[in-house]
Amino acid sequence: MRAVVKIGTSTLTHATGRINIRRVEALCRVLSDLMNAGNEIILVSSGAIGMGVGKLMLSEKPGDIPTKQAAAAIGQCELMYVYDSEFSKYNHTVAQILMTSSDVEDETRLGNFQNTVSRLLEFGVLPVINENDSVSTAEISIGDNDTLGAIVAAHVDADLLIILSDIDGLYNKNPAVYSDAEIIKEVYEITDEVTLMAGGKGSGLGTGGMRTKLHAAQIAMDAGVDMIIASGKEPDILYDIFDGKNTGTRFYSKGKQTV
Ligand code: ADP
Repeated sequence: MRAVVKIGTSTLTHATGRINIRRVEALCRVLSDLMNAGNEIILVSSGAIGMGVGKLMLSEKPGDIPTKQAAAAIGQCELMYVYDSEFSKYNHTVAQILMTSSDVEDETRLGNFQNTVSRLLEFGVLPVINENDSVSTAEISIGDNDTLGAIVAAHVDADLLIILSDIDGLYNKNPAVYSDAEIIKEVYEITDEVTLMAGGKGSGLGTGGMRTKLHAAQIAMDAGVDMIIASGKEPDILYDIFDGKNTGTRFYSKGKQTV
């Protein structure tokens, strides 16, 4: 199976912004094992700005763009250093690709991206993709890595997009607010009702977190790629997903509902 796995900052770091070593170690171990079993993985990883902030020992997340972009440049090295050292333990090689929306909109650049990813996968290398935060501004940025993950999945002919989050799926209402919220296991269409669950526009309850995931789901589904939202807290869950077990919330794309 060829899968794009998106990992959010909350999965990679502690609340302090410093790296969650146990989590990252477990994640890289499981992903290495899944590659050993013959799967192709493409990682879309956030975390650069947070790690840069930690490394610079800033007391809080910067508000201004130059400092954010500097933090991203510093943190991206740290992020890749962590992935490189962890995956090296299992004899896997990582490669970094940084993108902005111009790379997706320009046909030549998109073609180059696709060719590079194909070649890396042929080499058995793990591409690690992130938004190029050090040069992107609001006008040219993809904006969030859920969307980036979906765009990547749509263009690399992925079988599955897996979004690892701090929550184990889409609930019928925000579980952080409502203790009786219930998980939705399967979604076949992003209807208005589904959008409202994620805190539809104007409700004030949406964190944006689930909204960007539904946006990602729509892009993936339109491209014929299924998407799963699952908890990144226990990376072993990836084994279940690759075994086809019913985990988290699965968004079914038309035509691939039996995968
Ligand atoms: P990540 O950083 O892991 O990508 P986010 O924190 O951005 O994830 O988004 C996940 C959060 O979205 C959950 O922890 C929860 O607080 C919030 N949320 C809002 N509405 C829902 C919903 N209907 N189902 C699940 N989570 C929801």
